[in-house]
Amino acid sequence: MNISCILFAEPAEPYRSIIREIIRHDRECCESKRIVPMDCETRTFFHDIPVIDYFDPEAVAAALSHRKAAIIKDLGIITYGAFTPEQAYVSFSSTCFSTFVKYFYDSLIYFDSCAQKGTPVDRAYLRTFDDIVHRTETAGFSGSPVILRPELPTNDDEVFEIMAEVGRAIVSQRLVDSQFGNISYVYRDHIFISQTGSSLDELEGCIDMVPLDGSSSIGITASSELSAHKNIYLRNGCNAILHGHPKFSVIMSMYCKEEGCDRSQCHKTCKKKREIMLTPIVPGEIGTGPTGLMNTVPPVMTEGGGVIVYGHGVFAADRDTFQKPLDMLMQIEENSFREYFATVKNLLKHLSEGAPDSLAEGGQIVSSFEGKDDRH
Ligand SMILES: [Zn+2]
Ligand SMILES: [Zn+2]
Repeated sequence: MNISCILFAEPAEPYRSIIREIIRHDRECCESKRIVPMDCETRTFFHDIPVIDYFDPEAVAAALSHRKAAIIKDLGIITYGAFTPEQAYVSFSSTCFSTFVKYFYDSLIYFDSCAQKGTPVDRAYLRTFDDIVHRTETAGFSGSPVILRPELPTNDDEVFEIMAEVGRAIVSQRLVDSQFGNISYVYRDHIFISQTGSSLDELEGCIDMVPLDGSSSIGITASSELSAHKNIYLRNGCNAILHGHPKFSVIMSMYCKEEGCDRSQCHKTCKKKREIMLTPIVPGEIGTGPTGLMNTVPPVMTEGGGVIVYGHGVFAADRDTFQKPLDMLMQIEENSFREYFATVKNLLKHLSEGAPDSLAEGGQIVSSFEGKDDRH
């Protein structure tokens, strides 16, 4: 391969167990030896992630010649960088993110289908699920709140500084993985926006200044979501905008139960108006088409509020400072996290009714979710 770098590593828990479980239980993976991500952005990035049985150079080269990452069963994740080690790192990190989202989403759907059909949940599956839940570190909403500087910028350099500051906060609070997400700030007729592929905790030198009147084409390196940011600002005057991919917000956004919805199309055209504790969930594709998120997000965005994009992530915006958007991003993830475990608990409770032999175990696992919830 014409590449400069290879990265092979065994991922830390809970990712190691998660990948093992997907390989063991996912029907598509068993049949076609590949993991298909559920969330829109990693699906765009990867298409799918091939699974290889042995550490065989030919098989690895074959997989990596058409995909950015591959999984070697029971061993780890292998990725490459065409030019830099950073590219290999981004693919590795994105693999962890997409398998995490897929595992928790698929588990929810599995428990749901068991509850619908009245069939018991596989005990071994449930035990491993419980174990993975306990190894899962969540976003930073349990810690003390992050306080950003309250002063408004008085020149361009200060805009760069406040954006770098909030970028570091988003990453340290685990509200994005890999290089997903972006930040913008409108100041003196320019939209300052993080460049596509930039790491949000290292934004120095990676922010573009794009004139709002479209008089320049320097938006080329700017985030692909520039038009969404611009539209949010133009529509409601919010000039401080954050976009991240907090995991449980992404997972819960895909839990559409609307009859007549084609689940594979919900990210474009979901019929059901949903929300998670008052935060609206909207469909919205990456890109600029009529079902693109640049058209679906701005109309529902409110000052100091947030919007969840189906299977993708969260936008939060306010006038002048990033404090409220940052708090909102954390709040939405905390709400989604709580909603996820409340839903699972309900589904499992339902299952243990009338099934005396599994009651004890089901009850135990349900109470351990309660513990997970109490921690926060
Ligand atoms: Zn995104
Ligand atoms: Zn739907």
